[in-house]
Amino acid sequence: MRGPNGIARMTGPGRIRRLDSTRRRIIASAAALAVALLLVWIIALVHGTLLRRGEAEALRLGQQRLAFLIAALQNATDRHDRLPRLLARERDFIAALKAPADAEAIARANRAAAFVSTHADVSDVFLIDEDGDTIAASNADQPDTFVGHNFAFRPYFADSIAGRTGRFYAVGAVTGVPGYFIAEPIEDGGKRLGVVVIKVSLAPLAELWTRSGDAIAAVDRSGVIMLASDAAWLYRTLAPLLPLEVARLKSARQYGDDDLKPLDAAAPIRLGEGSVKAELSLHGETGAYLVQARSLERLDWRLVLFTPLAEARRFADTWTSFAVVLLVAAGFGLALVAARSRNRADRRRAAERLARLKTELEAEIERAGAQLAERNRKLRDAERILTETRDEALQAGKLAALGQMAAGISHELNQPLTALSTLSDNAAALLERGDADSARRNLALIGATAIRMGRIVGQFKAFARKNAGPLEPVPVKAAISAAMIMVENRAREIGAAIVRDEAGPDPVVRADRVRLEQILVNLLRNALDASENAPTRHVEVGIRLDVGRPEAVLVEVRDHGAGIAPAALGHLFEPFFTTKPDGRGLGLGLALSQDIAKSFGGEILAANAPGGGAVFTLVLPRA
Ligand code: ADP
Repeated sequence: MRGPNGIARMTGPGRIRRLDSTRRRIIASAAALAVALLLVWIIALVHGTLLRRGEAEALRLGQQRLAFLIAALQNATDRHDRLPRLLARERDFIAALKAPADAEAIARANRAAAFVSTHADVSDVFLIDEDGDTIAASNADQPDTFVGHNFAFRPYFADSIAGRTGRFYAVGAVTGVPGYFIAEPIEDGGKRLGVVVIKVSLAPLAELWTRSGDAIAAVDRSGVIMLASDAAWLYRTLAPLLPLEVARLKSARQYGDDDLKPLDAAAPIRLGEGSVKAELSLHGETGAYLVQARSLERLDWRLVLFTPLAEARRFADTWTSFAVVLLVAAGFGLALVAARSRNRADRRRAAERLARLKTELEAEIERAGAQLAERNRKLRDAERILTETRDEALQAGKLAALGQMAAGISHELNQPLTALSTLSDNAAALLERGDADSARRNLALIGATAIRMGRIVGQFKAFARKNAGPLEPVPVKAAISAAMIMVENRAREIGAAIVRDEAGPDPVVRADRVRLEQILVNLLRNALDASENAPTRHVEVGIRLDVGRPEAVLVEVRDHGAGIAPAALGHLFEPFFTTKPDGRGLGLGLALSQDIAKSFGGEILAANAPGGGAVFTLVLPRA
């Protein structure tokens, strides 16, 4: 799957894939950036919305709170609104105003004032004559009594002496305690004698404000804080006052000697009848405040509520953070899911690659198998051709052999035939001569020659005969004896002795008796031929039983001849191989013998004996 082809496959699409992946990465980065920007925008939007909602909520709550506070303040101021009008009819007050020098009358007025102050829950009640001098008061017996003080500078005096109800909020000029003053003219018989004034302390209300934890202030027409939940804001202003305004306030001594400094605001708080946002430093804490104001009825006051927007900011921040955390978590989750699905996709791709690889491998194996089959087929063809060729060669060899054989036969038979004709001619002549003995000898020679010829022909017959006869148990010694008789003449001819190991074993082998004898005759004849010119003309025949091969019987034929030439050793059993001089050998003996031995299931082995000469071993299967 690698190889030059594989590499070629990798480069082309690989580059395209890389380009694709770069483009994909750019697109993915752009998408990520867009998503991030979108998220930032969404977060900003969420934060803004939450902040606006928080502020709207603060505004709504402030509105409610203001309504309640206004009601409370209204109640505190209105509660005593009609009291001065009632007190204006008080006989003791009228009497005292009529006779300010009458100590008794003044004392009665003082007592009446004290009584009212105690029971009507107002801080002070006092009488002022038409010149603005205080002639009697509920606190006449106290060191800081109003008695003797002139309040002509107070607007409430001016208003009331003019016949109207005077209402005024101010810091007490004597006591320094702020209060709400309500003044009513006292008339008698159509004559305006003076003014009765009650001073209502709003301190308990301010105390309530302080305890409520709200940042509340009551502001007068000029924007001066005259009542507040935090005492530190008193007599400070929402915005810087004009010098003229300051002068007016100073002349009325409304807020004593205070500086009337503006609150610590980043910018002047200019309040209409609504709400503004302001950066303020209240209670030492600087921050954004929602400043809401509402006017009181009748009085030219406004109640101002400061709501810190930090809470709303915190609310928005908290929920935005929460949203961010949620988004980040969701992002992580998505990334995780994406990564996992990508992993899954990777795994799928890997599996696909593997499957592809497997398919390719299978195809490769199939191809290899087909190639192998083809090669096998070719091999078989070659084998067949070889066999055929060999058979043909063999056939050709046989034809050649036939020629050779023809020459051999004619050569072999020519001599005895010539001898036969000579002998028969001689025999006829001898008989005519009446030499019966010579004729008989001649006839015997004829017989012998015929036998010899028969043997030659027999050899060819054996060569032609292919199939062996039925195999049977044959005693080896008997077969050797028979063979020895057949070569007796030849042994005698060359003066050789065939020595047999008489004491050895006499096993029985499975063979065809006649053909076994034929093998033995061949081996003995060859041994005798080899012994012909040898100094020792001994041929030894032995029978051996091999321990390693209990099923085999070995018959050894050994001579003391020249032995087998190394070059001949490999060709001994080939048909027509002979080293014997012309006419003496056909080269068929060993080939035939081997063929026969094999048909018994045995074989013939040839070797040179250690002490010289050759040894042929006939291996036979034991019966
Ligand atoms: P032939 O005897 O007709 O030559 P064989 O097939 O019997 O044919 O023998 C073939 C050859 O084997 C002989 O020509 C000879 O060279 C060699 N040979 C056979 N027996 C012996 C032996 N005992 N000693 C030496 N050579 C032998």
